[in-house]
Amino acid sequence: MKYDKNNIFAKILRGEASAEKVYENEFVFCFKDIYPKSKIHILIIPKKEYLDIYDFSKNATTPEKESIFLAFENLIKFYKIEKSGCRIITNQGVDGRQEVPHLHFHLLGGNDTGKMTSI
Ligand code: 5GP
Repeated sequence: MKYDKNNIFAKILRGEASAEKVYENEFVFCFKDIYPKSKIHILIIPKKEYLDIYDFSKNATTPEKESIFLAFENLIKFYKIEKSGCRIITNQGVDGRQEVPHLHFHLLGGNDTGKMTSI
């Protein structure tokens, strides 16, 4: 899979497509998933163009990496789910069934998110 500048998340970041923002910092943008799979379903994406978690792990700066965790912390606080919990996942490539070629983490919560996989 290659980075495609016309992917929907790149459009959201450029303001060419709309999204319901819930949190933002210098390096990260967070918004509601359009087809929520839980009561709370937020997508956390880096503002810079990274294809997936491997690309990000290899090439992102330390502040960019820290900002992702800061976003997790703020979202967990915002939704008051420190105790009830949540699931944070990222899909990569074909086997991971990644659909949008811009790194994104899913934060799911507000209810029991079920067993980990359907394999
Ligand atoms: P993936 O399967 O790549 O890990 O997840 C892509 C996610 O992006 C899916 O959960 C899907 O519902 C969400 N998504 C796809 N298009 C849009 C969109 O235009 N806006 C928003 N907010 N979410 C989207």
